[in-house]
Amino acid sequence: MLDGKCVFCKIIKGEIPAGIVYEDDKMCVFKDLEPKAKVHLLAVPKTHFKLLAEMGEEEKNILAYMLGKIPAIAAENGCGNGYRLIINQGDDAGQTVFHLHIHILGGEQLGDL
Ligand code: 5GP
Ligand code: ZN
Repeated sequence: MLDGKCVFCKIIKGEIPAGIVYEDDKMCVFKDLEPKAKVHLLAVPKTHFKLLAEMGEEEKNILAYMLGKIPAIAAENGCGNGYRLIINQGDDAGQTVFHLHIHILGGEQLGDL
């Protein structure tokens, strides 16, 4: 289910433009609006949930599916030499969009966190 007020749900529905680089029935990958690395993509499930702690079996299956797809998507988008995945969870991590997403960072030598 999508959430009418959620910015990532709006991107999934095509209501907000984003540089979508990959899409299928379960997930969508698009360019971050404010990239923190030469390549900065966001991989999102096409179902709205906020946190890893909220996942049921269906969400766990989608997350596993996404992790299986990410290596090829990263390689096709300039991260053939390596990349970093980040999933911010909650306020201390600085999570700003409460639709679970995986940051894919790469395209250059990344610094320490
Ligand atoms: P968080 O801090 O929640 O882990 O990451 C949210 C990310 O979403 C940020 O890196 C931010 O730049 C990105 N973002 C927020 N709004 C939009 C948007 O409307 N379009 C795109 N492409 N990225 C967005
Ligand atoms: Zn959403």
